[in-house]
Amino acid sequence: MSKTDYTTYRNCPICSNARADILHEINYQRAEYQILPLQYLIVSCTDCGFIYDDFNTGASVFEQHYARQNKYILEITAGAGGFSESDLIRYQQTTDFLEQHIKEKSIHVIDSGCGKGGLLQLLKQRGFSNVSGIEISPGCASYAEKQLKTKVYCTDLLKTKQNFPDLPPVDLLILSNVMEHIYDLKQTVRIIKKILAENGMLYIEVPDASRYYQYTKSPFYYFDFEHINHFDTIHLDLLLHPFGFKTCRYFETESYPVKTMPYPMCGGLYKLDSGKLKLSHNVKQYIDDSILREKNRDLPYLDSPHVFVWGLGAYFESLRYKKILNQYQIKGFIDINKQKTGEMIDGIAVSTPDILMNFNSENTLVLVTSVLYAPQIIQELEAMKWKGRIVDFT
Ligand SMILES: [Zn+2]
Repeated sequence: MSKTDYTTYRNCPICSNARADILHEINYQRAEYQILPLQYLIVSCTDCGFIYDDFNTGASVFEQHYARQNKYILEITAGAGGFSESDLIRYQQTTDFLEQHIKEKSIHVIDSGCGKGGLLQLLKQRGFSNVSGIEISPGCASYAEKQLKTKVYCTDLLKTKQNFPDLPPVDLLILSNVMEHIYDLKQTVRIIKKILAENGMLYIEVPDASRYYQYTKSPFYYFDFEHINHFDTIHLDLLLHPFGFKTCRYFETESYPVKTMPYPMCGGLYKLDSGKLKLSHNVKQYIDDSILREKNRDLPYLDSPHVFVWGLGAYFESLRYKKILNQYQIKGFIDINKQKTGEMIDGIAVSTPDILMNFNSENTLVLVTSVLYAPQIIQELEAMKWKGRIVDFT
């Protein structure tokens, strides 16, 4: 297998490219209960440079793996979103950061993957008055809900809208230690957008692959088989910006899975920028305007006994398709393009402008249908001492 530019099983989760360079191959000895791929490649996308795990396994295996794990998390056992000393340090860092950048504390905040609600509790203590959680494990969800007297939606994040269609729009969604596990990142961002309010914000915190080398632990430690995406802030931007998010602030920090073991983390605060939706809004407005102008178009001098249409470009073709010119008694088509003159359209000849001199009288109408050259055509008619009617039909 070539180390460079090979075809991947899993497309780049950021840019969907299917070509990558292989950086390393990882192998584990399979334990009976393990269903995740234990042989995979650490690859670098040839287009965007994202680092991710490539394996011949679909998303469903990951869903099964996490569903199985969550089934066994009970209220009493330790786990994510708990209250250990290292957990508390992380919640404090997150809350400090959010307090620096968010002044309005009554906004609707959701911690996705809230576990037993450790972060939610601190946010409440610091004055965030409208917080709730999303948690897939029923044990954790009910524990957090009881302890904190806070709504916890027990669901997979990606199914939140399906399972809770009445969920109020979320002003700030917190995704801490989530994105590195996700098989289909783009689909996840699409769904997140549906949960967020119009100018909603996203807080993302992930392991910082750009600093793995500065935090050396046992060899290949950071290529844990659950961590299948290896981010830096540049690739968080590459993922989020195409979906209309703008970056408000980046951060680099350390987390402590165990008190003495710093782990490099990075992330940022991102905001849905409604300005980015302006393009489609503006183009729709242009289409509406065009429809209206077409509907209200005048058809002057319908009584003209001789009508010539000058200008046989794309605009003329569209008028013809819509049969708008059919109400005129068309005598001839005019174009200066030698390729067109001498041809027939609907049995009517295409001629050069000099044919007009045979019909140079008050009642003859020239419909100008060349959008770009209408002013020149009108000038030319004047230069020919045209006595008839002229309508700029553009
Ligand atoms: Zn890529």
